[in-house]
Amino acid sequence: MWSGQEYLKPRTKRLKVKIPRHFWLYFLVIFSFALNILLFWQNKSLKSQLVSLKREIVALELREKELETQLDQLQKEKEELLQQAVGVLKKRTSYMEKIIRRLGLSRHFGTSQQKALGGPYLPPRKEYEILRERINTYLTRLEKVPLGKPCRGYISSYYGYRRDPFTGKRAFHSGIDIVARYGAPVRATADGVVYRVGYSRGLGRYVKIRHKHGFLTVYGHLRKYVVKRGERVKKGEIIGYVGNTGRSTGPHLHYEIRRWGRSLNPLRFIRAERHLARVARSFPSS
Ligand SMILES: [Zn+2]
Repeated sequence: MWSGQEYLKPRTKRLKVKIPRHFWLYFLVIFSFALNILLFWQNKSLKSQLVSLKREIVALELREKELETQLDQLQKEKEELLQQAVGVLKKRTSYMEKIIRRLGLSRHFGTSQQKALGGPYLPPRKEYEILRERINTYLTRLEKVPLGKPCRGYISSYYGYRRDPFTGKRAFHSGIDIVARYGAPVRATADGVVYRVGYSRGLGRYVKIRHKHGFLTVYGHLRKYVVKRGERVKKGEIIGYVGNTGRSTGPHLHYEIRRWGRSLNPLRFIRAERHLARVARSFPSS
């Protein structure tokens, strides 16, 4: 039976979403498919990254090898330069040793014992150091040896037998005469101690200086001297002035070098200084 009330009755219809059958199965299939795609892309990008990394590594390895060869080359060049320097130093050392030998000083400078440098193998660096040190030692020791000229001027009379300017007879000249301007400064040719000053008929006013290794220098015919007996003098220090005292025919300096009482040719020592100056110029001491 129909009644109006029946129409007014609120319909309580439940909204029901209908889940298709096998929904979860579909979902799982789709999900795993999507995941697969994602993983696939990730894998691909990782692979490409790996490839580029590998390439970088190869490039770095190449660069490393390049640098290594460069380093080798530099090392070789350095070694060669050092070897060259050692060669130059060796030449200089032997040159200096020759000068020292000629002056009769090998024993005092230890050059006679040092000949065996070519013996056992030494690395160039070490050899370089040894040679450098040796040259410096020679230079400092030679400071104590009378070298060079005591005053400016030209040599008018040499060492050895000559005709005596006063008697005209053959006589031994135990030094050299340097003609210089009257009053020109006379300097000590090496560090030493003033052994004697005075006046003699032959030498006129004179100064005698004692040096190391048995050397004695004599400066004669001075106008005056400015040092006292026992005074220490340095190489190059003014000890007096050129004059014409004693047996002299004009202003000049009589200069002698003696060693252990024997006179030596001063010219050898003057020349030695010139040779050494050349060595010192080409080898600036540290
Ligand atoms: Zn003389």
